Amino acid sequence: MSHLQQITVLGATGSIGLSTLDVIARHPERYQVFALSGFTRLLELEALCLRFRPRFAVVPTSAAAVALQGALHSGGVSTRVLVGEAGLCEVAGHPEVDAVMAAIVGAAGLKPTLAAVEAGKKVLLANKEALVMSGALFMQAVRKSGAVLLPIDSEHNAIFQCLPGDYARGLSQVGVRRILLTASGGPFRQTPLEQLREVTPEQACAHPNWSMGRKISVDSASMMNKGLELIEACWLFDAKPEQIEILIHPQSVIHSLVDYVDGSVLAQLGNPDMRTPISHALAWPERIDSGVAPLDLFAVARLDFQAPDESRFPCLRLARAAAEAGGSAPALLNAANEVAVQAFLQGQIRFPQIADMIDEVLNIAPVVVVESLAAVFAADTQAREIAEQWLQRHAR
Ligand code: NDP
Ligand code: MG
Repeated sequence: MSHLQQITVLGATGSIGLSTLDVIARHPERYQVFALSGFTRLLELEALCLRFRPRFAVVPTSAAAVALQGALHSGGVSTRVLVGEAGLCEVAGHPEVDAVMAAIVGAAGLKPTLAAVEAGKKVLLANKEALVMSGALFMQAVRKSGAVLLPIDSEHNAIFQCLPGDYARGLSQVGVRRILLTASGGPFRQTPLEQLREVTPEQACAHPNWSMGRKISVDSASMMNKGLELIEACWLFDAKPEQIEILIHPQSVIHSLVDYVDGSVLAQLGNPDMRTPISHALAWPERIDSGVAPLDLFAVARLDFQAPDESRFPCLRLARAAAEAGGSAPALLNAANEVAVQAFLQGQIRFPQIADMIDEVLNIAPVVVVESLAAVFAADTQAREIAEQWLQRHAR
């Protein structure tokens, strides 16, 4: 390794951010933390800055910056604290940065992630919403800058590992028949349908296999996460929606599979721990220790598969429709989902109403061709407005 790689972690205080820092801390001879960002968990951010001593930290407001700067100064750490989206974009595209972990949740991560892409960085993409919203523009920016885009989402990381190195020639060119995208089915896979009206945010966030942030946990419970991942996979691997089959695999040991024309099916397996895809992407094309225990297949004992039921998981149907519609439809879907998940987490709507709200937005907002980031944000804003109006009519 010629030099210590400088890493920016956007969303450092979150689940993916902390797992990333856990991996980085295992390899001080390879990686140095260049910048960290937080949003609400600013005491945690302060502790991370005292531990990792980054060049920069980013917080949402000037007041928070003054407070953090003061605390770090007293702690003898010379980290410079920057503010807001401009600060996030600065540390994402900074000339001294080698790799950026994009782990902000939701649409808020789009501009900083794009800043890393446009600066030609190695971009470790956890923030799937950014790619879902702006797919074509995002991938154009990757091609233009020569950024190296590596998927962190465990399924996409698995697919990446099961594809040949030259898959960008086209899936059919490299003999791929289908991508098999696995899903755990979440905590409500077997809940009687009539009880879904009564489930609580705490139940939705209690994922059987993965420990994650609250937004993606609700997305996993509704399977909108798999819908977003379907769209994510279409962009990452230049696949059509019909080339991707979703299968429920409750053990979350196989992280996804690639089916080739000769009948070979390649899968990537591992314990459900995000430090595996994070380590894979950080070190790619090398391999490093992640701290994840070796997979014990005797303890796993069996691997089950079943087809997803769209009457239980209507979000899957909505996401597939948005993927097929293209244009601004995925941005509308994503924004409506963000409002719906927030409303559910705040107790304003019941779990099945998440899909109702998104359905309403997709029925009302026109799907337009997207040729600029402004058009993406216009769709995002319009979807949020329609969703808020729906919420005013239906909130409990
Ligand atoms: P968390 O909620 O745990 O973390 C989100 C991070 O984003 C936190 O650092 C949070 O700051 C920050 N943040 C939230 N809102 C904003 C905002 N408006 N502006 C700037 N920063 C903000 O989420 P996860 O780590 O679980 O997920 C992060 C991303 O990774 C998501 O896109 C998710 O879909 C994806 N992902 C996550 C997986 C997982 O296992 N967790 C698996 C696959 C993908 P703070 O905490 O200080 O408020
Ligand atoms: Mg995933």
